[in-house]
Amino acid sequence: MPDIQKTLVLLKPDALQRDLLGEIIARFERKGLKIVGMKFIRLNDAMLDEHYAHLADKPFFAGLKKFMMQTPVVGMVFEGFGAIEEVRKIVGSTNPLSADAGTIRADFSMAVPSNLIHASDSVENAQAEVNRFFAPEEIFQYEKITDKFVFGEGI
Ligand code: UDP
Ligand code: MG
Repeated sequence: MPDIQKTLVLLKPDALQRDLLGEIIARFERKGLKIVGMKFIRLNDAMLDEHYAHLADKPFFAGLKKFMMQTPVVGMVFEGFGAIEEVRKIVGSTNPLSADAGTIRADFSMAVPSNLIHASDSVENAQAEVNRFFAPEEIFQYEKITDKFVFGEGI
């Protein structure tokens, strides 16, 4: 069994504009991923320079930042077995036209940058991104009555 991990998700401005926040969150809830942090975040230039530093030299960087600042985004921290990889699976690949059917990006979007959602892609990035957007007191540990069905008796 993989470790229990935390991972960061951002629901992008197109998800908010298109009334897809609930639909997207429901997919993670149904999987059994536990929401341990959730809030609106108004991204600014400095936050995006840090978050998308790996794309700074790309021609679409300025447009991507502008897009990400159009509305607040919904920041979420999900917890579960192998959560980093599981969330990426549910999200689908970056270009919605090559994402697998059944993933959020394939099912609800058609282009970049408006592919609805960001999700951490490695253990190192998940830790850095959770810390970037959430203070320790904004991450909650709590029991749900369904925990034993979702996580098994081992928890
Ligand atoms: N993006 C874009 N054009 C591209 C590649 C990426 O606008 O050709 C945007 C898109 O919104 C993507 C984000 O930049 O989600 C971050 O890119 P990354 O390669 O990290 O993809 P992700 O991890 O989001 O799948
Ligand atoms: Mg990425």
